[in-house]
Parts: sequence; structure tokens; C-alpha cells
Amino acid sequence: MHYQSTRNKCISVSSAEAIQKGLSAEGGLFVPESFPSVDGEDTELLKDKSYNERAYFILSKFLDDFTENELFDCINKAYTKEKFETENVAPVYKLNDTTYFLELWHGPTCAFKDMALQILPHLLTTSMKKNNEDKEVVILVATSGDTGKAALEGFKNVPGTRIVVFYPNKGVSEIQKLQMITQEGDNVAVAAVSGNFDDAQNGVKKIFTDNGYGELLSNNHFKLSSANSINWGRLVPQIVYYFSAYADLLKVGEIQNGNKINIVVPTGNFGNILAAYYAKKMGLPISKLICASNSNNILTDFINTGVYDKNRDFHTTVSPSMDILISSNLERFLYDISGNDDKLISGFMSDLAENGKYEVNDDMKSKIKEFFWAGCSDDEETMASIKKCFGEYSYVIDTHTAVAKSVYDKYAAQTKDTTKTVIASTASPFKFNQSVLIALNGHNAVVGKDEFTLLKELSAQSGMTIPASLAELKGKAVLFDTVCDKDQMQQIVSDFLKVE
Ligand SMILES: *Cc1c(COP(=O)(O)O)cnc(C)c1O
Repeated sequence: MHYQSTRNKCISVSSAEAIQKGLSAEGGLFVPESFPSVDGEDTELLKDKSYNERAYFILSKFLDDFTENELFDCINKAYTKEKFETENVAPVYKLNDTTYFLELWHGPTCAFKDMALQILPHLLTTSMKKNNEDKEVVILVATSGDTGKAALEGFKNVPGTRIVVFYPNKGVSEIQKLQMITQEGDNVAVAAVSGNFDDAQNGVKKIFTDNGYGELLSNNHFKLSSANSINWGRLVPQIVYYFSAYADLLKVGEIQNGNKINIVVPTGNFGNILAAYYAKKMGLPISKLICASNSNNILTDFINTGVYDKNRDFHTTVSPSMDILISSNLERFLYDISGNDDKLISGFMSDLAENGKYEVNDDMKSKIKEFFWAGCSDDEETMASIKKCFGEYSYVIDTHTAVAKSVYDKYAAQTKDTTKTVIASTASPFKFNQSVLIALNGHNAVVGKDEFTLLKELSAQSGMTIPASLAELKGKAVLFDTVCDKDQMQQIVSDFLKVE
């Protein structure tokens, strides 16, 4: 199978090339030329398979230039019982007869980004071998929290890779900072940048676009790369868990083979929900895809009006991983519903770059409505949703998952749809313990308490075990205490790689 670019469909590359390149040279995203189909016989077979076998079944259809050995090697290194503190990697939790949570946060950093970032390093190094690229890959990441830690855990001690993560000194939560400054591994470096996330991100962009520096690294046998969410190698592993959830529901008799289900996804960059759309396109029986946003509700407006307009205020919310105004992966969906019209998509993207805005045509508008329902939940509604879910079911959800639950409740009230519905649960409540405890017990309940006290209190109240990776942070040595200015970032990379 070959991959084409959303902005120039004459470009055609193998999956190993798409993964190594990340982004196409003219700025487009790589998408498969066609989509494999899956039918009822396949879902019946998947029912009795392990998560890793299900992953192989899906990945092998898209990454057909990888051998069976190569793929199983990547999958089995990523999804182990040690890394995912559960038997089946992404278990489904039944809330009631119509609502299920797909728990995507059992990995090492307690959020769903692990599902892709645990396997990406292996897909990337395998791709490089296949492409006869023998340089060592250096991953640079600017992070506002979740991605940096998930990338560090994914790339940690993977042969042939190094990773450097920059985070804004005052822009991440206490627990996120602790997770990063105590990071272990032979090939990792972490530094704080004085400034905000934009400063860190601009610093990383500057390193990437400095051709002279690229040459210096190349002469020293290094090659820069990124691990961001537009890489096909991050998207394709996300398709797997929607099939897995369906197979699990089938296995325990909650649905009959062929029954349609709804999927709700708390959305930021549109990666996770795009994977669900691709699963539906491949034939998984999905009725509605419900796109849930926080107060940064640009996607709610887009799905309801066909106008994407980022000229609006940015809100800082209790679901920070969804505080996004440009959803990069939306481009892939637009390409698909335009019938692979690369000229049209290029036009939208230049409108977005120049005016912060574009409007799709009527045909696309009706397709969007056919597949999606969209809603948003502000902080007050999100916090109320955590409390309500716990009150009714003694089940604690994190702030991002609560955005999805809140929007799903609005959907159900408005449409009276009783189709069984799977909500993507994207983070462990322990990861956002402070907001979760405020939602449950009020502001006064957290005042003056440190992270570890909060973890213990949440565990006592929820009856859930504190994830080992968070509990262990307490005794860990601080390994990275560097704080740099944004114009020192390149020097940090050079020092780490010992190039000059
Ligand atoms: C990244 C993230 C999201 C948003 O996912 P997208 O693929 O960017 O739409 C939602 N919840 C959590 C906890 C995340 O880390």
C-alpha cells in the first residue's frame, strides 16, 4: 500500500517512508491511497484474540511493507504487561447498559498518548532500517505536558535513538514536571525553558529549520526527527483500540456481531477521533462519532457550521491536553470527504495560514453532519460531570474524559438515541488528581496538600490503586535540573550529543 500527501497526491511513498518523513515536504500529511476493509467474519475472529494479535491484524493491513516478524517485534516491545498495568492493554469498563468507557490510560504515563508513543519508536527505527538510513535519530520535543513524558517513556533506551524534551518552566503541572525531571534512560535529556510553551516550541522549530545545524548533525551521524501527532506511525496504532473495544463488547455478549455503536472522543488535535473515523470507514459498525470539546470549541463550531475559524480567544481549562486551536489531523479528514481533492485542501490550509479561517463546500458540510455530532463542555459542566458520574456509579473519571461524558449526556438528552456508546477515556484520574478532587470535594479539600497526599486521598475515595508510575515518583532522584533561555536550546542539544 502506498501513501499520498493531502496537498499533492502525486507524491507516493511506502509506509516506512511516510513514518520516517513524518510530514510531506510541501507541508501535507501522509494518508493511505486506499483503505483496507474489515467485515463481520473478521470482527468475529478478533473477538478471541489478544490485544497484540488484534494490533497485528490491523497494522499489517496498513504497513504491508513490514514483515510479520518486524511488526510483531514492534507490537510486543510496545504493549507489554509491565508497561500497561493490565492484562488486556485497553480494557472496556461498563458503566451502565448503554455506556462504556474504553480505558486508554493504563500505560507508563497514565494517558492515552502511550498507546501510540510506546510503539512509534519501534516503527520508526524499523522504518529507518528498511530505508537504509543508518544515522542515529534524534527526537526533539517541545511539550506542554503529556506528550513530552509519553515520548520520553516511548524512546527510553530504544537503540538507535536519542530524545531531548523541552518544557516551559512555568507551564506544566507539578506532577508532569516531576515525571520529566526524574526521567531515567541512557538516551534521554530534559530541560526547562524560561518562558511559555510558545517559546519552547519556537526554539525547537528554529533548531529544525537551521540548515547549517542539520548539516553539522549529519556529519556527526545524527538525524533530527519529531514525534508529533501527525506522523502516520502515531495514528495507525490508534485505529486498533476501536476494533479491540468492539471485539471485547462482542466477547462478553454486550452486543451482537454487526450491531452499531457510537463512539465519543474528547478531542484536541483530532487524532484520536480521526482514528475512530478510519475504523468506521474500514467497516467497523459505528453509527455516530461524537466529537467533544472543552471551551476551546472550535471543532464544535466547525462541525455544526462548516466554518473553521481560529480568530477567537484561547482558554486555559481543567482539560489542558485539549486546549488547542489548530487541530492538525483534521486535514486528513477533509481530504477524505473531499474525495482526495489535494488542490482544495491546499487552498483551505493557505486560507487558514493567512486569514485564520476557511469554509468547506456544501457537499463536505453534509458529509460532516452524516458522520459527526459535536458538542462542548465548559469547566463548570466538566467538573459537575465528574461529581455526577462518581455519585451515580462510584466511578471516577479524569477531566478530559469528563468533557466527553458531559457532551455525551447532552447528545443523549437531545437526540434520545439509545445506541450503545463507547466513550474514549483518555487519562487516569490520578494524573489530574487536583482538579478531580476539587470536583468531588470542593476547593478547600485540596488546599495546602502536596501531590502525594492528593494521590492517597483520591485512592481512598475512589477505591482505585494509585498507578505505580505515579506512586514511585516520590522517591525518585531529580536527574535534570537545567533551566535555559530559549536561545540556549541548540547548545543543550549539542552538549547532549557531544557535537560542536
Ligand atoms: C492528547 C489528549 C487528548 C486529545 O487527543 P487528540 O488526539 O489530540 O484529539 C485528550 N485527552 C488527553 C488526556 C490527551 O492527552
